[in-house]
Amino acid sequence: MAAAYLAAEQPDLCVIYMGNIDEIGHRDGWMSAPYREAIAQGDRAIGRVLAALDGAGLRARYALLVQADHGGHERDHSAGAPEDLTIPWVLSGPGVKRNHRIQTPVMIYDTAATIAHLLDLPRPAVWDGQPVYDALD
Ligand SMILES: [Zn+2]
Repeated sequence: MAAAYLAAEQPDLCVIYMGNIDEIGHRDGWMSAPYREAIAQGDRAIGRVLAALDGAGLRARYALLVQADHGGHERDHSAGAPEDLTIPWVLSGPGVKRNHRIQTPVMIYDTAATIAHLLDLPRPAVWDGQPVYDALD
């Protein structure tokens, strides 16, 4: 649905949430085979979104940020363990360095600041987050 929506409506920003990965983490455990399959399905879904952008000639217009909202261990993510707090954070697209591994720490609240930067929007003074300049051209 997101792939068709992006190609047809061309919004400035689109958030795609894959809640099933968290649900499967709680049900079957983080890093379990079903959990890893849910991640693989999410990866394929991202591939469909990118293919739709390619098909509509829009790929160069959009940055893509892929992140989790939290990690997990066993069947929980509320203990504050490093596995609970560590997430993937992947950014690509216009204005983003290619083939670069971010060298600076990234906090989850840097996501909104980075998106605002990419959209050339002012960052509210009350935000703690900073754009992840290390990832940007
Ligand atoms: Zn959860």
